Amino acid sequence: MTETPIRTRFAPSPTGMFHVGGARSALFNWALAQQRPDGRMVLRVEDTDAARNRPEWTEGIIRALAWLGIGADDPHFEGPYFQSAYAEKHRETAQDLFKNGRAYYCDCTREMVQERRDNPNLGYDGFCRDRGLEPGPGRALRFRVPEGGPTVVDDRIRGRVEFDHAAIEDFVIARADGSPLFVLANVVDDVEMRITHVIRGEEHLSNTPKQQLLWEALGLTPPVWAHLPVIVNEQRKKLSKRRDKVALESYQEEGYLPEAMVNYLMLLGWAPGDDREIMPWSEMMPLFRIEDVNSSSAFFDEKKLRAFNGDYIRELSVDDFIERCSPWLTGEDTPWDAADYDAEVFRAVAPLAQSRVALLSEIVPNVDFLFLSEPVEDEKSWNKAMKPGVGKEMVEAALARFADPELSWTADALKAATEETGAALGLKLGKAQAPVRVAVTGRTVGLPLFESLELLGRERVQARLTAALDKLRAAE
Ligand code: GLU
Repeated sequence: MTETPIRTRFAPSPTGMFHVGGARSALFNWALAQQRPDGRMVLRVEDTDAARNRPEWTEGIIRALAWLGIGADDPHFEGPYFQSAYAEKHRETAQDLFKNGRAYYCDCTREMVQERRDNPNLGYDGFCRDRGLEPGPGRALRFRVPEGGPTVVDDRIRGRVEFDHAAIEDFVIARADGSPLFVLANVVDDVEMRITHVIRGEEHLSNTPKQQLLWEALGLTPPVWAHLPVIVNEQRKKLSKRRDKVALESYQEEGYLPEAMVNYLMLLGWAPGDDREIMPWSEMMPLFRIEDVNSSSAFFDEKKLRAFNGDYIRELSVDDFIERCSPWLTGEDTPWDAADYDAEVFRAVAPLAQSRVALLSEIVPNVDFLFLSEPVEDEKSWNKAMKPGVGKEMVEAALARFADPELSWTADALKAATEETGAALGLKLGKAQAPVRVAVTGRTVGLPLFESLELLGRERVQARLTAALDKLRAAE
């Protein structure tokens, strides 16, 4: 017997920024699809909520997936399909369910239902079940939940979850205008797309018994269900777009590498099981098993993600690192003028920067002193380094020492000169270099100072020390 090929799907609604939780769902589905030569992951854009959808969100989904390495250039990818294109099939299926008695029309308004029930939490009471209503204005189509039960959802992550039929009302599958509800459209599309595995967020677990009943009413075997644990923040609250940074794009903009992001997201609820955490997709993907996903909530630890990113950055070749930094160095938002950027200078400092940054965006404050005509002004750093007396004395002495034409302008010589100059003032190297660093770079921390001075060149260093000295004198 040949096995049915695995067909997973990722079915986002294009109603907002692409969420890190969505990214994790997509990756888990993608891993399963990639494990077999004939495995597929379908991207289905659930765009039937016309009031909330926007085309740019759909584009954002496709872009975000591509950034994570999921897209049409891989034979395991299928789509995108759009739910709106299947509207006819949704209506037909609703009609079939009506014709074979699995669904019935109902003209009760919400108020009428509430009036009949003492307990408003009980939901619909089945009033129209046997009234034999034909389709007509103001009549919604409800699914006839079979008596008896329960429906048992066999979830690959949660195990058997029982839903008593008494607690499942005869739910609406199509509105009075014939348009389908999520529970139905989602199932019809999964059927049409021959989906074998439904792997999605925990918030959909409550829809699952209804959807399983629909599969059964259509005479079909339901897919494998797997509901992923919620992702929580530091306060153990479910990540929310109002409170937390949830848009994948924000991480991309801060300079997270997709490899690090993918690696980290895969660990939200799953672990490869051998204590290794940093692992490329190519090694993780074959190890992934949906049964090994944990059902308890997963903490999105940004500090850990950041540490991962730093590790991934350090693993890049220098050329690759330079290339990845390019949007931050030559984009529209650089603090320096495009004409003042010097790719050769950056190439020279790139290895020094690569070992220091955890995010690509951090490259900017590390190298801006090289491309700005004047160092950034940061009062706090200035006050910290330019302590009364010491600051001015040191800047003055360095200026004089660096002016010596005999001093060769190399990092080693500059270090020795600074050490000497500091010693004459009773300062150790660390204390001696602080005022020089702030005068030249504007900051108290950054790339190794003497290499920086060498690169910046004698003329610019002298000009900046002079400007600093003027400022210090003016403040006296
Ligand atoms: N469009 C639904 C959502 O974004 C997808 C549900 C599912 O994966 O079945 O929540």
